[in-house]
Amino acid sequence: MINPAVSVIKSDLPEKWQQILSDLITDPKELLQLLDLDPEKSPFSLHALQQFPLKVPRPFVELIEKSNWDDPLLRQIWPSKLEEHEQTGFVSDPLAESNYNPVAGLLHKYHGRVLLTAAPHCAIHCRYCFRRHFDYQSNSPSRQQWEAAFEYIHNDSSIDEVILSGGDPLALSNRQLFWLLEQIDQIPHITRLRIHSRLPIVIPQRINSDLLNCLGRFRQKVVLVIHCNHSHELTTEMAGNFHKLATNGVTVLNQSVLLKDVNDSASCLIELSKALFSHNVLPYYLHLPDRVSGTAHFYTDEAHARDLLNIMQARLPGYLVPHLVSEIQGEASKTRIM
Ligand SMILES: *Cc1c(COP(=O)(O)O)cnc(C)c1O
Ligand code: SF4
Repeated sequence: MINPAVSVIKSDLPEKWQQILSDLITDPKELLQLLDLDPEKSPFSLHALQQFPLKVPRPFVELIEKSNWDDPLLRQIWPSKLEEHEQTGFVSDPLAESNYNPVAGLLHKYHGRVLLTAAPHCAIHCRYCFRRHFDYQSNSPSRQQWEAAFEYIHNDSSIDEVILSGGDPLALSNRQLFWLLEQIDQIPHITRLRIHSRLPIVIPQRINSDLLNCLGRFRQKVVLVIHCNHSHELTTEMAGNFHKLATNGVTVLNQSVLLKDVNDSASCLIELSKALFSHNVLPYYLHLPDRVSGTAHFYTDEAHARDLLNIMQARLPGYLVPHLVSEIQGEASKTRIM
């Protein structure tokens, strides 16, 4: 028998992943020091930092190669001066998400699926993020306000899947996360629960036994879509985590964003697909980046993306080739380019 008093104390202590989450690197100078980088070579942009602060968990930093400004992981998080170059056609809400926001915290764009902006923050700030200008303040409902979202789902039986996205839903405490999942579990027509999260990559300690037990408990099929852009982001610890998730009935898929000078070569993408599979994850989507202001330097055009996919198709089994997609405003789904 577990002494209930002891278990209460245990659940009140911050878990390892929460300690990491509360000790993120936010000061560019600290990051430069840890990585032995010379600030003269690539000065950071104060403007970029003010708009979208630096935020990176220490386990992710450990995967960055020292003294290498061209490291593909570093490029994803560094608030570069290039963000100051405004380019026509790059706007703050390219997907017009605010048009599909019937109640706070809920986006209903596609048939059968709703997306809940379950958490108002992320563990990492990816500089290319299409939600970097998203109004999380008015889309982070209280428990009471969530009731309106649940009621919306209840009243539309065409919805059979709920996606928790963000921010990053796994940045929520287990208490908040489990509460949300349990509410959704009670809506009879929901058959699939999906979680979109970058935490399993940037703080792998998040996949602990409490989470595994919780996810294994639902009536619905659970899908976890992680977000990994480069094979250097994967470790053996993660392979173990994804195996445990599968053992608990969770389907694990990956989505990546095609990013200039990060992963926009055929060899890099082929390596990523193979690495994902060997870490027990299947590729799902490769997104063309959205045209978000401040991110033009990551943009890769569609013709180059098609060339890359053609090479992948010629070299890999079909199940290791992700769908190349982009999001076109007003379409009934993400648009499959290939
Ligand atoms: C991407 C997205 C989905 C999920 O699309 P799938 O093609 O099912 O992965 C659902 N809702 C919104 C608002 C989205 O942006
Ligand atoms: S984890 Fe996802 S939502 Fe958060 S900053 Fe990165 S890309 Fe954006």
